[in-house]
Amino acid sequence: MTATPHTITVTTTDSGRDYDWTHPTDCPNGDTCEIARRTRLLSSWNMAALVDGRPDGTYHLGLYYLTALCLIDEAGLMLLDVEPASVAPDACHWCATPKDGHGHQWTVQAGWHDWVQPTQDQINARTLARRAA
Ligand SMILES: [Zn+2]
Ligand SMILES: [Zn+2]
Repeated sequence: MTATPHTITVTTTDSGRDYDWTHPTDCPNGDTCEIARRTRLLSSWNMAALVDGRPDGTYHLGLYYLTALCLIDEAGLMLLDVEPASVAPDACHWCATPKDGHGHQWTVQAGWHDWVQPTQDQINARTLARRAA
């Protein structure tokens, strides 16, 4: 995955948070752009969920699986969702739902998925967040 000119910008205003994901005119794929197509399919709630919990700023959009979008860094690596401090360390890698009762879940980043083992980094970060809360 390579970095693209596609970005979503978050700004906090008096009336809440503003999300701007206008398709760039310099996109090499123009009208057939897959990122543009997916942003049209996702609801504004889904787009807001992508940057939920992150500070104001501009984030790069990347493709994820067959229909989903994710945030990527300058190197094209995916940024994981920001999680509340109460997430169980062994909760799902993608949606932070506990293993018990996870079943089939949908997220903007991962699409439909069953419970996925979190990485050791995620487990460590969640453990620390719970201790600090
Ligand atoms: Zn594009
Ligand atoms: Zn999950």
